[in-house]
Amino acid sequence: MKEQVWLQELIDHLHSKHASNFEGEIATYIPELSKADPAHFGAAFVTSNGSIVEAGTADVCFTIQSISKPLTYGMALEAFGEDEVAKYVGVEPSGDAFNSIELEKLSNRPFNPMVNAGAITVTAMLYQKYGDNTFHEIMSRFSAAAGRQLEFDEDVYRSESRTGHRNRAIAYLLLNFGMVPDQVEAALDIYFKQCSILVNCRDLATIAATLSNLGKNPVTQTEVFDIDRVKDMLSIMFTCGMYDYSGQWAYRVGVPAKSGVSGGVMSVVNRQLGIATYSPLLDSKGNSCRGIRLCTDLAQELGLHVFDCM
Ligand code: GLN
Repeated sequence: MKEQVWLQELIDHLHSKHASNFEGEIATYIPELSKADPAHFGAAFVTSNGSIVEAGTADVCFTIQSISKPLTYGMALEAFGEDEVAKYVGVEPSGDAFNSIELEKLSNRPFNPMVNAGAITVTAMLYQKYGDNTFHEIMSRFSAAAGRQLEFDEDVYRSESRTGHRNRAIAYLLLNFGMVPDQVEAALDIYFKQCSILVNCRDLATIAATLSNLGKNPVTQTEVFDIDRVKDMLSIMFTCGMYDYSGQWAYRVGVPAKSGVSGGVMSVVNRQLGIATYSPLLDSKGNSCRGIRLCTDLAQELGLHVFDCM
């Protein structure tokens, strides 16, 4: 109870500190995302023993976008094992933007599963395993991690599917190198849908808390992710989760995290806390400005950095 009170005070304080900051731009390359409200700013923390605190517009839903990537990566590792997945996608930070068309030299693998090329490859692998049930499998797993039945945003899905030429180019390049099977359009369609799954800050913080709690949702007590794969998911989030800001994030904040282009950021304090923020105003690398500021302050205030000596 005491923990809940001071966590609530902390989240309120950090939220009000950054709510009046309007730096950054809303993403427009997926036309439907440009409708987001720049005043929306929410945050939620869920502890590994299931306490929840929220501030601001924590119940406003937004599309999960790239935050889906570590989750589908975990599903692919469970389905195929580490060695098989590693044939098709690497684990090295690329230092490039999320939508980069670069692949690793010689192997032709995407650098990692957090850039679009790697995430599309992972979804194509899941499609091989689950066929027409793939999106259903993804939706069920994300819903179990969030602790409620999630839905997806039909308009964002259609908007991205209609304008996702760059992702199509990436998928066909991968096909050219034999890194994905023939059914690229089916895999792309699932990828666009998975990015359009709707979550609010409470959902996202619960997903983060599930990862922090070794794969078990601390609110519903459901085992969601294989304990052995959570380590892999968190490792890749730590090194690659914030696109070409990942090095700076690891340096300043020091916990595994993943951002999405609609403005969500999910951070995981191992064995302790799941953190989510939502604000659609993004910096030039596609990360939420208020999200970065709030998490940087929070990490300093609580000494969350993995190498902190506090
Ligand atoms: N759906 C987005 C895309 O593929 C996801 C990217 C992101 O969130 N950075 O472009």
